[in-house]
Amino acid sequence: MNKIADRLDSAYSKITSAAKKSGRPASDITLLAVSKTKPIPLIVEAYEFGQRKFGENYVQEGVEKIHHFAQQNSFADIEWHFIGPLQSNKTKLVATHFDWVQSVDREKIATRLSEQRPNNSPKLNVLIQINANDEASKSGIQFNDVEALASTIAALPNLTLRGIMSIPIKTNDTMALNKTFTKLKDCFDKLKSQYDSVDTLSMGMTNDMDLAIEHGSTMVRLGTAIFGEREKSE
Ligand SMILES: *Cc1c(COP(=O)(O)O)cnc(C)c1O
Repeated sequence: MNKIADRLDSAYSKITSAAKKSGRPASDITLLAVSKTKPIPLIVEAYEFGQRKFGENYVQEGVEKIHHFAQQNSFADIEWHFIGPLQSNKTKLVATHFDWVQSVDREKIATRLSEQRPNNSPKLNVLIQINANDEASKSGIQFNDVEALASTIAALPNLTLRGIMSIPIKTNDTMALNKTFTKLKDCFDKLKSQYDSVDTLSMGMTNDMDLAIEHGSTMVRLGTAIFGEREKSE
C-alpha cells in the first residue's frame, strides 16, 4: 500500500475503535479527508483507496481541483466539502462547484448560496459553523444565534440544512474540550429534533478525533492524519 492508503487505513481503524468505545457502529461516522494545500496526485491516491469525500478551505484552490477531476469521468463520484471562511464575493464559485458548505455563519452567505446554486444541481448541503469558544480569530456564530440562522436556512429553496460544524479551541485541557464537545452535541440534538434534514455533527480533527467521536461526532475532518503535515505558511 502507498503512504496515503496506509494512513487512511489506520484512520479508519481508529474511527472504528473510538466508535466501539462509545457503543456506536463505525458506519455512524464519516471521514472527510481535508486535502487543502495538498497536490492532486495525493488526492488520487486517496481516491484509489476508496476515499470519496474531500474537504477544501480555499475557494480558488478548491475550484481548480474540482475542475481537474471534473474533466475525467472516472472521478464523478467525489463529494467536495467547502470548510473554510467564506466571503460573499466568493459564494457564487462555491455554490456552483461544491456539494457541501460546512462554514455557513450568516444569513447573507446562506441567501447568496441559495440564489446562486445552479438550477440543474441538487440542493447544496450546509452546516452552520459554531464558534464554540468565542475566539476572535475564528469564523462561526454563538450557540444563541443558531436557532435563527437554522430557520433562515431551512426556508431557503436551494439549501438543505444538515447540521453543525465547529473547530474548538486548541488546548491540552481535556476537561475543557469535553465541555465544548458536550455543548455542541446538545446543540446538534436540539436542531435534529426540530429539522428532519439534520443528521451531521461535524467535529473532530487529527488531534481530537477520538474525543469528538466519544461525544457523538458523525463526521471527522482529517488533514494531517491522512496527508501529512502542511507548510506553516498556509
Ligand atoms: C485544516 C482543517 C482541518 C484538518 O485539520 P488537521 O488538524 O490537519 O486534521 C479540519 N477542519 C477544518 C475546518 C480545517 O480548516
